[in-house]
Amino acid sequence: MSLRFRVLGSGSSGNATLVEGGGTRILLDAGLGARELAERLESAGVDPAALALVLLSHEHGDHARGASAFSRRWGVRLAGSRGTYAAAGLGAIEIAGYDVLTPGSARRVGALAVTAVPVPHDAAAPVAFVVSFDGCSLGHATDLGHLSRPLVEAFRSCNAVLLESNYDAGMLRDGPYPWSLKERILSPLGHLSNGDVARFLQADLGDACETIVLAHLSQKNNHPEVARMAAETALRRRGDRDVRLTMTGPDGTGWIDVRRPTDGQLRLF
Ligand SMILES: [Zn+2]
Ligand SMILES: [Zn+2]
Repeated sequence: MSLRFRVLGSGSSGNATLVEGGGTRILLDAGLGARELAERLESAGVDPAALALVLLSHEHGDHARGASAFSRRWGVRLAGSRGTYAAAGLGAIEIAGYDVLTPGSARRVGALAVTAVPVPHDAAAPVAFVVSFDGCSLGHATDLGHLSRPLVEAFRSCNAVLLESNYDAGMLRDGPYPWSLKERILSPLGHLSNGDVARFLQADLGDACETIVLAHLSQKNNHPEVARMAAETALRRRGDRDVRLTMTGPDGTGWIDVRRPTDGQLRLF
């Protein structure tokens, strides 16, 4: 079974991504309520109790809201940085267990290898993830203020990349948020803009990448078509490469294969 993933929810209403490879299933973030998470897993055909691990990128509610109740209810261990454990107060709550991830070093989770990569964001010790199986990798980064060099390097060999494209700079500037919140979002520890993503796609996307998923779009300061156009323009400028672009929002996506079928396989249909 090859590496595939499915976004269960994305954006300020709650983030979670299911990743599956070689019979091992893990969740990246648990930002929906525990019951909602279980329902979405079941509708994807996955038994919540069969998850190998729930990994947390950071402690903000839209990424960790359902984690402790889900862990308790289904007996699934949590994992993340030491800082996330402390900031989410997980030491004071009953959970099935917590595995501390050392940023930069790969860890085996069943058939999968997971690497946590530190990212710049206003949380205790936030991380992005690279999940690998059978020579194939998914890079997964939400909530980051800028694309740091270590993250760009970690994503360079990924076959699929899920990246936040949080806001359009003009819509944020002219939008309804108070200036203090605008400053926070715009800061190097805030969120990525469509322009940040476009610059990454044009200059730093690795040649192995076949699939891009744009995630964590603001509902007030962005629009899926605006984000898509910025990314498509960047990919076109980069050359005539055939990169699949998918958008995701509060309702998530269907299953996405990290590597697309080869031309030979496509001809079978
Ligand atoms: Zn978030
Ligand atoms: Zn955050």
